Amino acid sequence: MTEDVESFRLRARAWIRANLRPLEPHEILAPTLALPVQTEEEEHAALARERELQRMIFDAGLAGIGFPREYGGQGLTTDHQRAFNAEIVGYEYPARLQAPSFSPCGAVLLDFGTEEQKRRHIPAILKGEEIWMQLLSEPSGGSDVAAALTSAVRDGDDWILNGSKVWTTGASTADWGLCLARTNWDVPKHRGLTVFILPIHQPGIEVHRIEMLNGSTEFCQEFLTDVRVPDSDRIGDVDGGWTVGTRWMFHERMLFNSPFVSIPVGTSPGEVGADSIVNVARDTGRFDDRCVRDLLGEAHMLELVGQTLRRRIGRGVAAGRISEQSAAITRLFAGVSSARKATIAFEIAGPAGAAWTADDGAAANCGDDFLMRQTSCIGGGTTEMARNVISERVLGMPRERTPDRDRPFRDVPRSASNRA
Ligand SMILES: Cc1cc2nc3c(=O)[nH]c(=O)nc-3n(C[C@H](O)[C@H](O)[C@H](O)COP(=O)(O)OP(=O)(O)OC[C@H]3O[C@@H](n4cnc5c(N)ncnc54)[C@H](O)[C@@H]3O)c2cc1C
Repeated sequence: MTEDVESFRLRARAWIRANLRPLEPHEILAPTLALPVQTEEEEHAALARERELQRMIFDAGLAGIGFPREYGGQGLTTDHQRAFNAEIVGYEYPARLQAPSFSPCGAVLLDFGTEEQKRRHIPAILKGEEIWMQLLSEPSGGSDVAAALTSAVRDGDDWILNGSKVWTTGASTADWGLCLARTNWDVPKHRGLTVFILPIHQPGIEVHRIEMLNGSTEFCQEFLTDVRVPDSDRIGDVDGGWTVGTRWMFHERMLFNSPFVSIPVGTSPGEVGADSIVNVARDTGRFDDRCVRDLLGEAHMLELVGQTLRRRIGRGVAAGRISEQSAAITRLFAGVSSARKATIAFEIAGPAGAAWTADDGAAANCGDDFLMRQTSCIGGGTTEMARNVISERVLGMPRERTPDRDRPFRDVPRSASNRA
């Protein structure tokens, strides 16, 4: 019998309170838009702790709420996931293990993996033993995902992969990756792609860290040279990668609404929270300024609308009332409102947004967040692409002109450095 939401909530609450560390106020309310700046040792220690926490959550029967029981999950619903997300607020939890490991990667395995692939990887992900990442974007372009140039050539029971992927969050600390590659150059671009899974740390894969504006080195570029992948590690049909890819991007857009991902209610990783902006106003002594109060109201309004929109679209998609493509609406709003909240925090911070010391309290780092504010409009697909999806696939407006749609990909003009 399925555990009802309220019993599940009480079970989760009791376990969380007895086993997880309550966060200090500054840990809950700190602005979090910029990726953390850590040394490699700090990064490894933080991940080790998160793997340990995930294992504890798994052993308590609270991991993988939306994943089926046969793969180690709880076989429960989005409402159970929401109840957990409400109970975890204010407690330490394995934030970095949620995305992209649980979703999109775990969710894509669940949708398209073979029985053997699911049994091998989903329980390992839920126990925190395998951290996954997405090998999707390429140096030649990220938005045009179907124009991937990384090639996979059949060799007996294996495939040989060559190419480069970029902007990969957490590649240097991940164990496995989900990779989109071109398997057929003689058909239009959407029809010649295939998805594979591969261990990151193996001969033939070079991982280079990229230093971001704020000093974080979590992003990476990977170079794949004659990487051998067994056909048993193919996901979905040969040349059927676009079917997998569109579902993959759906899970990415649904991230904050997903039955697979634990995110404390009221927070969106990679977003400056409205509460933390209130702290900026307090710490700069501007809380009573009328203009500042208007800005605080705007930030709270953006947060409320975002939460309501997520709930409404999540329920609509889950019930089949609205198209899955509507997830692009929440993705668009999350990007635009996150960039606006970082700007509001920066405006309130005043001079401390340009130069700060630790004594500036919550105003410190507003400058970094302001410089990084566009990340939320780019990561997980850009807001411009979300607008395209909404206009074409939700509102049914005419499709964007794509001259290469019916042309064999081999014949599509590319710059000299991007020819196969
Ligand atoms: C925080 C963050 C995390 C990321 N993590 C990962 C990851 O883990 N794995 C991964 O593979 N990638 C990752 N990325 C990369 C990200 O997916 C790409 O940056 C994104 O898809 C955009 O691609 P691009 O940078 O090549 O820009 P381009 O595609 O070159 O776009 C440049 C500009 O043109 C616009 N544009 C392009 N085509 C169109 C169009 N048809 N209609 C309208 N406007 C258009 C874009 O919206 C953008 O404004 C991450 C990026 C960020 C910022």
